[in-house]
Parts: sequence; C-alpha cells; structure tokens
Amino acid sequence: MRWELDWLEARASLTPKAAAIVDAETDQGWSYSEVNDRAKAIAAWLKTNGVKKGDRIALLAPNGISYFDMLFACGKIGAIFVPLNWRLSVDELAFIIKDCEPTILAFHSNFTKEVTMIWGEEDRCIQINGTRMSRLIEESAGQREMREMDLDEEDPLAMIYTGGTTGKPKGAVLSHRAIIWNSISTIASWNLTNEDTTVTYLPLFHTGGLNALSVPILMAGGKVVLANDFTPEKAIGNLIRYKCSIVLFVPTMHHMLVKSEQFNEAEFLDMKLFLSGGAPCPHEIYEAYKQKGIAFKEGYGLTEAGPNNFYIDPSEADVKRGSVGKPMLFNSIKIMSEDGSEVLAGEVGELAIKGKHAFSYYWKNETATDSTWKDGWLHTGDLARKDEDGYYYIVGRKKEMIITGGENVYPLEIEHWLFSHPSIQEAAVVGVADDKWGEAVTAFVVIEEGAALSEVEVKKYCRQKLGSYKVPKNIHFVSQMPKTHVGKIDKKLLKEMARKNQK
Ligand code: ATP
Repeated sequence: MRWELDWLEARASLTPKAAAIVDAETDQGWSYSEVNDRAKAIAAWLKTNGVKKGDRIALLAPNGISYFDMLFACGKIGAIFVPLNWRLSVDELAFIIKDCEPTILAFHSNFTKEVTMIWGEEDRCIQINGTRMSRLIEESAGQREMREMDLDEEDPLAMIYTGGTTGKPKGAVLSHRAIIWNSISTIASWNLTNEDTTVTYLPLFHTGGLNALSVPILMAGGKVVLANDFTPEKAIGNLIRYKCSIVLFVPTMHHMLVKSEQFNEAEFLDMKLFLSGGAPCPHEIYEAYKQKGIAFKEGYGLTEAGPNNFYIDPSEADVKRGSVGKPMLFNSIKIMSEDGSEVLAGEVGELAIKGKHAFSYYWKNETATDSTWKDGWLHTGDLARKDEDGYYYIVGRKKEMIITGGENVYPLEIEHWLFSHPSIQEAAVVGVADDKWGEAVTAFVVIEEGAALSEVEVKKYCRQKLGSYKVPKNIHFVSQMPKTHVGKIDKKLLKEMARKNQK
C-alpha cells in the first residue's frame, strides 16, 4: 500500500485507543488500532489465498464490522471490495456475482443458503462470523507488517452496485481517490470532528450506509455505531445511549421516527443534526423536527458521486425548505439544458457534477459509462433548479418526467402537494402511456390509518394548488407503496400496476 493512501494506518497511529466502531447488537467495540490490525490480518490472509491487485472480494452480510474489515483489507492489497445487497432475490444476487466475478466471497451465516445456491465453490468462501475468521485474524497477527505496494490513487477500491431504481443494477467503480475525497469534502463541509458519533442503520452495502457518513466519520476519528433492523424505538434508544451527534436516515425512516410516541418524549441532548437523503423528503418531516426544535437537513447524493455533494448548514434548512443547499467544498455543480449549455437561475435542467469524489466507470458497461460521463461532467439523470441565491432544489429524475398534452410535469411537485394533505400518508406520481395525452399523470396514494378519502376529494385538493394539466387523471388507493431493495418507492412497478389497471 502506498502510505499516503492508507489513512487508516495513520489514524491507528494517531489515535490508536480511540473507539472507532461499535456493534449496537452486542455492544462490542473496536479501537482504531484494532480495526487496523484486523484489516492487516485479513489482507495478509487474502494474499496468502491468491488474491491479487484488481481482484474482487464480495461480501454478503448484515451491517457489522465485516464491512470495514473487508473494505480496509482490500485497500491494503489493491483488491476491490464489492458489498452485496442481501435484500435481493437469489436470481438478482446471482446476476451481480456473475457480473463482478469475485475471487473470494465472504458471507454471514444468515446467508449460507443463498451462498450455497449461487456459489458452490467452498474453497473460495469464508464465513465472517465463524471461528475460522477469528482464528485467521489471530494467526495472521505475525504478518501484520504490510510491505509497501504499487498502488495508485486511481486504482479501484470499491464497487457499489447502484440501487437499480431505474433499471438493472450497475457496478459503480470507486477509486481510492473518490472515497478519500468524498470523506475530506464531507468532513470539511459538514463540520465533522473526532467528537462525532453516528449510528448507521442504512445498509452498508449501499453508498448511503457506507460512504455518506460512516467512512467520513472514521477518517475524522469519530465513532460509528452499527445497527440492523430499524424500528423507531430501537433507533431512538441507540441515538440516546451512544450519545450520537449526527445521523442519516432515508425519508421512510424519518417518517416512522417522527410518527412514533417515543419521538415526542425523547430528548436528543447530543444530536447536532438529523439528515435525510436518498429520496425526496416530504415537508411534513421538516415540520416535525422544527416543532421539536431539532436541526434537520435534506441532502442529495448518488452512488456515482461520493455520494455527498452539498454543503450542510442546519440554519438554512428552514429558510430554504426543500433545498439541498449549495455545492460542498471541492466539487462543481451545474444545471444543463439538453444542448449542453448552462440554464439560467430558476430554470430546470439536468444536474451535472465534477469533482475528485466522482466514480471512475461502470463495471463492464462502456455504454452506460459513456452516457454518464460527458465532457468531463458526470450527468446524474436528475433534474434540478437553482434559485437566485445559489441554492439547489431537486426536481425529480429525468426518466420520471411526464410529458402530458405537450406539457412537462415533474412528479415531485405533485407528490409534495399530496403529502401535505393531512389524510395522506404516502404518495407517488407516475406517467402512464395514454392515447389522448401521450402520458397521463397517475397518482398512487396511501391513506393515513382511520382516515377516508375519495378520488374526487384528492383531485379537488390538487386543483387548489396545481395547474389543471398537473392534476392526476387517475388516482389509485393502495394499502402500502411497493419499495425497491434500498427502500425507495418502486415506480417501475407502479407504472406496471397502472397499465394493468387501465386494461
Ligand atoms: P439506479 O441508478 O440503479 O437507478 P438509484 O438511482 O436509486 O438506482 P442511488 O445511487 O442509490 O441509485 O440513488 C441516487 C438517486 O437518489 C439520485 O440520483 C436521485 O434520483 C435520488 N435522490 C437522492 N437524494 C435525493 C433527494 N434529496 N431528493 C430527491 N432525490 C434524491
């Protein structure tokens, strides 16, 4: 490893005894020197087992220390860490494993059945929660002095498969440079220090769990508490027990949290900031945190760029509600029209990003890489606008924009308005092919428990605020929203459901 890339080695030498990682389930903790020693031992074992620079090491496990064992071990020997989404079906996992061709598959015993079905090669598997793993960490103790190896900051360190919200998952290749700079930029732009503690419920196989806060906090020398099975009660308990100062949840988790009884009673004395990301955040969540006098901010990110892109200033959350802020340090952002020129303030265009935190390419997918990287800018596929003061607002995904009767409609605007209805718990809007309109604006709505609402009432409510072409032509009431494996509303499925309903 080139020492300037091995920041964990530096952390372990600077603050060896400081608590780095804690498992909330067992309350077991590891200091920086312990995390580094484990990574060195595993790196030595991987090398002994024939792993070479550029080889992929896949991991199928719930949130736990194994993610950092494997990430840091891969970093030390130039291998590529590929965390796998355990919420996928066996077929979907098999697709990803075939795509990334791992040399070693590390797994938790919860997934023995899946591993046996997909991957018969026992000699290239290792169970991370078995005695074999603890033994190898002990046995490799003598080999902990790593030799400096030929590694460049452009060499890949991790490959994270994107959420698959808009298509088949793609392996986004992240170099040492990208992961280091996302952390540097996040530490500087979100004011992270070694006093910060977070609890990570977001899955570590996803960029939101791994790179948004966990890795930056470790680089800053703070503490990361790892947890699974989110419930508002358990999450609030852990936030208080571990004196957390900052946390990132997706909107669905925030929704559950602010609706819980415990939220009303809880006092978050150590919390500096609640963050939301990964999907649009309904305004009622802003309101719930405001009522409680708690700092809350919505961020925007994507696997391919960091994921973090915007500066966090909690004081602006209420002044610029719904905005994701201004670009963070060390990255450039612009909003582009179809012809590639920059649009004026207030106009909607595609968000494009440039910075050292950006990914390199999609694994074995040149076509997708070429359509994402154009003229040195990463085209996000998301639509956004900037206001006169330089604050950015996410308008929705480009692919989800609806063209109805020749007018452009952004589902998010309608969703936000539907969300503001006191009887609506969740809402999603899609465009469905229609002979008359081209696409018909179609809404799916989940009603609050005990409330009643008719299609006519919902349309009437929409007309109070929205232009007539934005008012949904059809409203479908559902008991719950279908979600993707990373917890986002599955709009592909909603479209299918709407199409079937039309027939
Ligand atoms: P795929 O790229 O495979 O379709 P995905 O887009 O869900 O999946 P992720 O990297 O997990 O992949 O998510 C990034 C996307 O999440 C962004 O491109 C954006 O569409 C959405 N997103 C993130 N934060 C916000 C936000 N604050 N508001 C609206 N959308 C957001």
